[in-house]
Amino acid sequence: MALIVQKYGGSSVGTIDRIRNVARRLIEVKKEGNKIMAVISAMSGVTDKLIGLAHEVMDNPPERELDMLLATGEQQSIALLCMAITDMGYKAMSFTGQQAGVCTYGSHTRGRIHSIEPKRVLEALDNDYIVVCAGFQGVTVDGTIHTLGRGGSDLSAIAMAAAVRADLCQIFTDVDGVYTCDPRVVKDARKISVLSYEEMLEMASSGSKVMQARSVEFAKKFGVVFEVRNSMNNNPGTIVQEETSAMESLAVRGVSIERNQARVTVSGITAPVAYTAIILSALSDAEINVDMIVANTAHDGQARQSFTMNMSDLGAAQAALKKVLPQLGESARLETEAGLAKLSVVGVGMRSHTGVAATVFQSLADAGIATGMIATSEIRISTTVEAGDIEQAARVVHSAFHLDQVNA
Ligand code: ADP
Ligand code: ASP
Ligand code: MG
Repeated sequence: MALIVQKYGGSSVGTIDRIRNVARRLIEVKKEGNKIMAVISAMSGVTDKLIGLAHEVMDNPPERELDMLLATGEQQSIALLCMAITDMGYKAMSFTGQQAGVCTYGSHTRGRIHSIEPKRVLEALDNDYIVVCAGFQGVTVDGTIHTLGRGGSDLSAIAMAAAVRADLCQIFTDVDGVYTCDPRVVKDARKISVLSYEEMLEMASSGSKVMQARSVEFAKKFGVVFEVRNSMNNNPGTIVQEETSAMESLAVRGVSIERNQARVTVSGITAPVAYTAIILSALSDAEINVDMIVANTAHDGQARQSFTMNMSDLGAAQAALKKVLPQLGESARLETEAGLAKLSVVGVGMRSHTGVAATVFQSLADAGIATGMIATSEIRISTTVEAGDIEQAARVVHSAFHLDQVNA
């Protein structure tokens, strides 16, 4: 008998038919003699709808109340799934984050999991129930509801799998696994059979939203091997695990794209020291996540610094930087550019293969696509392009590394 944790995302429980499909799948696992726990998301579109309602009421809804509201999406779907299972003749019990013992800390709408005390869930499993837990939510020690950031049910599932020491953790979604690029953008993208935590993390944090980046970080930290699969078929998916030497044979294993990027440049900086600290502290105090950073000093001695960030942070970044401009010198000024996107190539093989950057930039140049800011890590190269060029850029780079042909 194995203990299996399966996560089903919003599209997998998006209609009553799909909820019944998940119920049948869980019952199959149970009938094979296993203990089965599902962690599920709100029905697709529900979380967005709730956010929309909140903003209809007011511009900046208090985050505590947003968490209270958003957590209801998952509460609906767990109850409906348990009803579907019961209707098929099996015992099922739903658990909110609090009932499942998920203890959180940190900020509202992006809470972090501190610990999980899964006593009630384990009892229900021992008593032969199919257990259905709400993803995306937990409570602080004093009982305040937190949600875990968009896509946070992935994190709930991985953390739950670690807490109950599951034998298997499967993340079910609407595609067959993790592909060499988003299959909605690159039609000949291929499913990758095994990925390392590092590669999955770099892909997720550079736009491949098939997994929430924080959930992958958690899996890596606690050694939770997981598989991404399709809830509508039985095809094998993508296993995400520790790196193996075989993964290094290819330089690039995936291409990620991230839309809605903006650039802010502070130029004419004459403040002699610590200007980077002044700028970054101002942005960090405003809780803005800066992505790429480029700094240089012009021949006239004036410095300039550019950053990229999500479009949604642009207004707040401008406001935060305007306040510190006087500290950066009399000629310091702010320029912004919206309408950018980011393309990244990822692969652990990059450590041992040369010429990866040359291939990326040559293929983009051959296609007449202009690139902007560049950032790299040991296993990733990213560049900004105009938003309108991003899909073509993804296809060009994908084919330059023959990702449509090789068995990744
Ligand atoms: P869920 O509702 O199951 O959490 P998501 O919408 O969060 O599903 O994630 C699945 C989607 O991720 C796919 O439909 C696909 O369009 C997108 N996606 C982006 N990059 C990739 C990739 N590299 N491989 C697979 N899917 C990807
Ligand atoms: N329902 C939440 C969201 O839409 C969590 C999730 O789907 O993972 O972000
Ligand atoms: Mg998701």
